[in-house]
Amino acid sequence: MLGFLTPFTIYALITALYYFLPGRWVTGYVTHTITGEKLKYRLNGRLVLITSILLWASLGIFRLVPFEWLYTVRYYSFAGAFTIGLIFSIVIVFPYPSTGKPLLTDLFLGRLENPQFKGGRIDIKMWLYLIGAVMLELNILSFASYHYITYGTMSSTGVFVCAVLITYFVFDYLTFEEGHLYTYDIFAEKVGFKLGWGCLTFYPFFYSIPLFTTAHLPSPNTPLWLIVLYSAIFFTGWIIARGANMQKFYFKTQPQKEFLGIKPQTLSDGNKTLLVNGFWGVSRHINYLGEILMAVGIVLSVGPTHIWVWLYPLYYVALLFPRQISDDKRCAVKYGKLWDEYESKTRFRIIPFLY
Ligand code: NDP
Repeated sequence: MLGFLTPFTIYALITALYYFLPGRWVTGYVTHTITGEKLKYRLNGRLVLITSILLWASLGIFRLVPFEWLYTVRYYSFAGAFTIGLIFSIVIVFPYPSTGKPLLTDLFLGRLENPQFKGGRIDIKMWLYLIGAVMLELNILSFASYHYITYGTMSSTGVFVCAVLITYFVFDYLTFEEGHLYTYDIFAEKVGFKLGWGCLTFYPFFYSIPLFTTAHLPSPNTPLWLIVLYSAIFFTGWIIARGANMQKFYFKTQPQKEFLGIKPQTLSDGNKTLLVNGFWGVSRHINYLGEILMAVGIVLSVGPTHIWVWLYPLYYVALLFPRQISDDKRCAVKYGKLWDEYESKTRFRIIPFLY
């Protein structure tokens, strides 16, 4: 029961931190459907993350909650998060007017586009991603602690490297939270089971699968040079994904600004403009390739022979390849002929020279 209730407590705490800790207000990319103004967001993700980690560490140091608690109760805690995800999906869908689609479609995809409360102080999408990211990080810290407590000096270096890489991934995401406001989930999706259960349940538990499934195993004694190589794969992916996302972010917010010395080259019809050089001249979704490489680096670090950990990069392939196709369709409608020109200039969809 304590394990089941753990995510209830943690999510409530993260919510309180999100609400009460200082944040900075930024103007987003999405337009309010009624006022026509750009939505405003109050962002403080990294501060919430750091505070949560400090709280977790303090509870461990003062022996109030064991460091490895989230590993010990992982199945019960998953069940708790599953229940929260379901309750949230029902509460965020059923009370609101139907979109005209079947009930189950509404439940899955949602009815509200960008729900905000308390004058924008609580943005449901940013709150969801924050909960997912912080819970993922706490899971990872706890799983790695369990490994260390079990194996001590015989621990696997790969487990800690994996924990560091996922921690880096989470910090990076919450550091560049503002850039996230310009992504597909925020401007194209509604809030239902997919996003709600996805962030409250799937994100913090499935993304921890590299350690969820290996923290109890002895070290595979991976040579150090291989671990360095795996980390290099991760950071190559990060440079590609972060680079592409930041180049587009600057292009949307300060269109003339150079990024890493790259002057934006564009295609324009006078109304709409597309970026066609730098990362966006290599392939039309090079950022997806970067994301997949990061996932590959993460799972390799715990040892490539563990079958289950490969679900993690496979999931990215299953998510991002169809997403590229649907985003291409959306862009073809939005940009018309300009998109055709872009497609003939930047021929590859995701993987340069291959796809
Ligand atoms: P993108 O950031 O690639 O955004 C696509 C949108 O960008 C398009 O709809 C279009 O929107 C605009 N765009 C596309 N091409 C151009 C161009 N050449 N010039 C100008 N604008 C362009 O995709 P996502 O929002 O799907 O993903 C954002 C990031 O999040 C990616 O790095 C992705 O890998 C990552 N991600 C991570 C996940 C994870 O679990 N770790 C899951 C999903 C995504 P517009 O209408 O604004 O022009």
